Amino acid sequence: MQKGTIQVHTENIFPIIKKFLYSDHDIFLRELISNAVDASQKLKTLSSIGEAKGEFGDMLIEVKLDEEKKTITISDRGIGMSAAEVEKYLNQVAFSGAEEFVKKYKGQNENAIIGKFGLGFYSAFMVSDKVEVFTKSFKEDAPAVRWECDGSPEYTLEETGKAERGTDIVLHINEDSAEFLDAERIRGILNKFCRFLPVPIYFRHKDEEKEAAPINNTQPAWKKKPSDLTAEDYQNFYKELYPYNEPPLFWIHLNVDYPFNLTGILYFPKIKQSYEIQKDKIQLYSNQVFVTEEVKDIVPEFLMLLQGVIDSPDIPLNVSRSYLQGDPNVKKINNHITKKVADKLEELFNKERKEFEGKWDSLGLFVKYGMMTDDKFFERANKFHLFELVSKEEGAEKKFNTLEEYRMATETLQKNKEGKLVILYTTDLVQQDAYIRAAEARNFVVVKLDTIIDPSFVNQIEMKWSDVHFTRVDSDITDNLIDKQENLESVLSKDEETALKELFDIKTPGLTTTVEVKGLSTDAPPVVATRPEFMRRMKDMAAMSGP
Ligand code: ADP
Ligand code: MG
Repeated sequence: MQKGTIQVHTENIFPIIKKFLYSDHDIFLRELISNAVDASQKLKTLSSIGEAKGEFGDMLIEVKLDEEKKTITISDRGIGMSAAEVEKYLNQVAFSGAEEFVKKYKGQNENAIIGKFGLGFYSAFMVSDKVEVFTKSFKEDAPAVRWECDGSPEYTLEETGKAERGTDIVLHINEDSAEFLDAERIRGILNKFCRFLPVPIYFRHKDEEKEAAPINNTQPAWKKKPSDLTAEDYQNFYKELYPYNEPPLFWIHLNVDYPFNLTGILYFPKIKQSYEIQKDKIQLYSNQVFVTEEVKDIVPEFLMLLQGVIDSPDIPLNVSRSYLQGDPNVKKINNHITKKVADKLEELFNKERKEFEGKWDSLGLFVKYGMMTDDKFFERANKFHLFELVSKEEGAEKKFNTLEEYRMATETLQKNKEGKLVILYTTDLVQQDAYIRAAEARNFVVVKLDTIIDPSFVNQIEMKWSDVHFTRVDSDITDNLIDKQENLESVLSKDEETALKELFDIKTPGLTTTVEVKGLSTDAPPVVATRPEFMRRMKDMAAMSGP
């Protein structure tokens, strides 16, 4: 048997890192600024435990763009590096100083550190011909050093005259990356990735005023304690995220640190039309660094329409920071979010039912979709899922029933031969008006199921509510309900009935195998044509899956 060590040839690995590690080149700025934030946080940590002495002044980060020199410079006033540390941290690919620090200072706010893989720094070479690092350690006696590398495995390291503590990273932008020498482009990237980082970041550019404000909000609402925030704070933060949206219906503040770390605020938006394409999505952060708006798996599918922020350093991000499917933490976070949403809905329903009902137009969509797709949520939502009742008087206040309330109100009357509760529903108040009135005349209670999700909801939920049968108000209800129609005299002659049946058959060929013509009570319309529920549903489904 032979044992050995696989050798990595740096001259081969560099092009791979440069080209393929990150699909989006704009993340170089995220990585370098993350390092600057880490350097600042480390100094704070060391100073708080007395390992760094002295007054360090305000931490801040500067990003300077110089179009003439074709450089971008990222400067921080953080921990800095000695010559030996540059050797250790920058000259060893995939050795993460961040990880080392976290291990060494466990329990000292180590969650604030962003770095993990020891590769982020090298993303600088995706956009640069040459990278210079000027750095001076916070340790008084360490001389400042200058490191330079053109992306080949060779580098130079020498002493330099930098007076201030901290690090300047100078990127000499290559020709292919000239797009990054544009102030608007840089501003856009900063806004995307760095908007909520905990250290103030200033963008310096010849067109900028010297006194310009930092580009970031260092204390975003989700990082604060829920008890320190008012309803207005939550609404203002929503506005900060989505300036053009209507105010949200309500929100949930996520704040867990065990067994996983998760913070964030989820907002329920007002949904004008349920099929409206949602462009403002939930944003995923890791230690306040924006990662992605792709939150599939982390957020249950039925809650993808929610908005806001989730932040978790425990979501495993590979180097390209797209996450891994089937990870146990991701699964736990997903379950936690489902539970929190159910808790919040239940609380609203119990404590402020009127308000809850008032929001049902938007809420109903989430709740129904959740009941269809998520078994755990289904269990919870049974308590607060609502049917809107069709009301007899015009302009009357909307009335809502839970399934149990509907059952209590109608049980003796609306049962079919199998003993199932029959939920009578309408999909169109105007077109089905005659049927609704006929049903009401018999004291049936009709509910409104007229949103885009309802046809599928009816089909799926019937399988879960095993003792419930949905029947559209213009279907053959009269046959199925126990309260038989046999004693109802048809007001039509046999000939008239046949003629009418033929008429309906011509109008809806192939679908109408059963047309019944019956007179109902005196205040209802004299003629009612119905169609078996299952045939109608097949037609609905066919229409839905059509182009
Ligand atoms: P990671 O951040 O995952 O550790 P990087 O490749 O981004 O990996 O950085 C490697 C290491 O280089 C860091 O862990 C840190 O020790 C050092 N470093 C990078 N940038 C700075 C900086 N601005 N100030 C101080 N140290 C830095
Ligand atoms: Mg890093």
